[in-house]
Amino acid sequence: SLYNPLTGIYTSPRPPITLPPPHTTIFTHLFRNLTSHPNSPALINPHTNHTITHTQLKKLITTFAHTLVHTYNVTKNDVVLIFSPNSVLFPIAFLAVTAIGGIVTTANPLYGVHELAHQVKDSRPKVIISVGELKGKVNGFGIPIVDLNSVLLELELNESEEAVELGENVGMDDVAAILYSSGTTGLSKGVVLTHRSIIATALMVTSDQEVYNEGKCVFLLVVPLFHIMGLVTFTYSQLSIGNAMVVMSRFDLKEALQAMEKFRVTHLYTAPPVVVALVKNKEVVRRFDVSALREIGSGAAPLGKDAMDECSLLFPQAYILQGYGMTETGGIISIEDPRVGSRHSGTSGTLCAGMESQIIHIETLKPLPPNQLGEIWVRGPNLMKEYFHNKEATEQTIDKEGWLHTGDIGYFDEEGRIYVVDRLKELIKYKAYQVAPAELEGLLVTHPEIMDAAVIPYPDEEAGEIPMAYVVRKPGSSLSAEEVQTFIAKQVAPFKRIRKVAFIDIIPKAATGKILRRELRQKVKSKL
Ligand code: AMP
Repeated sequence: SLYNPLTGIYTSPRPPITLPPPHTTIFTHLFRNLTSHPNSPALINPHTNHTITHTQLKKLITTFAHTLVHTYNVTKNDVVLIFSPNSVLFPIAFLAVTAIGGIVTTANPLYGVHELAHQVKDSRPKVIISVGELKGKVNGFGIPIVDLNSVLLELELNESEEAVELGENVGMDDVAAILYSSGTTGLSKGVVLTHRSIIATALMVTSDQEVYNEGKCVFLLVVPLFHIMGLVTFTYSQLSIGNAMVVMSRFDLKEALQAMEKFRVTHLYTAPPVVVALVKNKEVVRRFDVSALREIGSGAAPLGKDAMDECSLLFPQAYILQGYGMTETGGIISIEDPRVGSRHSGTSGTLCAGMESQIIHIETLKPLPPNQLGEIWVRGPNLMKEYFHNKEATEQTIDKEGWLHTGDIGYFDEEGRIYVVDRLKELIKYKAYQVAPAELEGLLVTHPEIMDAAVIPYPDEEAGEIPMAYVVRKPGSSLSAEEVQTFIAKQVAPFKRIRKVAFIDIIPKAATGKILRRELRQKVKSKL
């Protein structure tokens, strides 16, 4: 059994992974087997049909890294912000910065200047890598800007430059990325990931593929590269075993299907809204030849059982599977192995190689056996090092024995499959994008007619969840729901908008002043 009743620990059914030696970096790990696939495609731009092979990828990263060192004076432990929509250049920039020991932070290109400023202030980048269309948002920080598109032109001109060894003083313990997540509570915080966390993630994600020796695969990337799942769980992991990524600049159903047909895409790993879009547009899907497709994977938010069942009918030749992870775990905790046993819609599979878990009773804090609900705790080589400059949040999240308290509620079945069914933490996921209630609450109470406010998730078929605000108006105010929504919409990126408002006399709070979100969520549930 994968559950040990003596320790209360669940383990992985997969063979353990072996981490590389301490001097390994993301870059050296990526190209450790280059001679076995020198001319295989690595990155494909479906909008131009331009293909970059693994050998070319190595050269491009090396040249870009030299530009960062020599022109922008980036050295070890300098933070570099990548602020760009998806493109094949994005992973090249990520790999170039980390190859020289620099630290990458990313932000959603939909962010406004104000939202970006929070992160710039927190992470203090030395350089910003961006693109022309986003210049207006980054110009005002007084930080040098590298234009990603013009850099590539230079890179192509210089392609003959010799690949020099990179990152001689960089290793597994060094920090590679600071990606932002609100974790279990409060505003977004920098999740500090080392080269080890990212390499471990790649080994864990790809371990089944290595076991089954599937040959070269073509992945379609439609999820954002600023998020751990796009950047590490999918792109870095697949590149690291010689596979190809077709990088869409954004999600458009028809363009995605066209790309799947044209590049004979074998794997579509994505988030629930894309799976929902596919099953809602069956007629469109049927117009394309997607016969090469072997797997559709979904993660970052729960995928409904119905969508999963419909999807497997729509793509009878493909496995439909779900994975579960979070930024703080390098993007992965568990994944289904569709070749083992029958399909169980709703599960997020078994623990990845090297992962351990406990299900902890919310009140007694005792570990629970299979089929009982509690908070999911996890431990493994992929966990973040800490929250950046935030000892308190780190200590609240990773305990002394190394368990990361996910803030998710779930259970394991007898076969070691995990089901993530609810959230203890505040986080809202709108179309798999993170929305931190604390940020919206902070903005709401700056309205002159709002006395108090609380934001919670409200279930929604298409988006998974939408942010809903409970608002206490000041005496005499006749503020409308629409006015509340407009007030917020002007200040945040579109995915953070408040889409439902209810007025209430008082926000339920604990003696400590903490909002009793469970009560509000219960209220919503009982109404539905
Ligand atoms: P992020 O750091 O943005 O990836 O968000 C991580 C959170 O997304 C997790 O803690 C879960 O609450 C949620 N999540 C990710 N994958 C799943 C899944 N397969 N099922 C349910 N929730 C998920």
